[in-house]
Amino acid sequence: MNLDAVIRKVPDFPKPGILFYDVTSIFLNPDAFRFVVDEMVRCYKDVQIDGIISIESRGFLLGACFAYNKGLPLVLARKKGKLPGKTISQSYLLEYGSATLEIHEADLIPGKRWLIIDDLIATGGTLQAVANMIEKVGASVAGIFSIIGLPFLNYHEKIGKYDPKTLINYHSE
Ligand code: AMP
Repeated sequence: MNLDAVIRKVPDFPKPGILFYDVTSIFLNPDAFRFVVDEMVRCYKDVQIDGIISIESRGFLLGACFAYNKGLPLVLARKKGKLPGKTISQSYLLEYGSATLEIHEADLIPGKRWLIIDDLIATGGTLQAVANMIEKVGASVAGIFSIIGLPFLNYHEKIGKYDPKTLINYHSE
């Protein structure tokens, strides 16, 4: 499967100078979507995972497929203010400004091994924020999966210890 041919690239979105890799074009293509889900599941066939944490919003679609396929619990990491129950939260730096993700505290069971799923790894700050929440409650990170990696943004410095896996990498913008 030539994923590069399927992924829509939008220059200067959401701001000038950013090349946006739009994975919604994968969801439009049933063969590509099936390929991504099958590969994602295959990557972890020998890894012990107790649950999935997926990141709003494109990560939800991938995380739901993994959880359904493997019969695992699925926890959502949402943008601040969206979850109704008691939450644990973590703020992190974006290119400009900061953001906060939240998880229902009762869902993050200590001692369990969680696979974190998102669509794309840029600086790794978003995934690191989720990993921090997992470790804060005494649980552990079983791995990190994204369809796309931008390793030139040095995400390995932040999250390399969690063995991030990607299906396609881009080496410049
Ligand atoms: P980061 O925290 O820097 O690793 O950014 C990752 C998050 O921002 C992911 O949830 C992505 O969906 C989004 N993101 C960052 N850069 C891009 C990009 N160039 N194209 C598409 N999504 C991006």
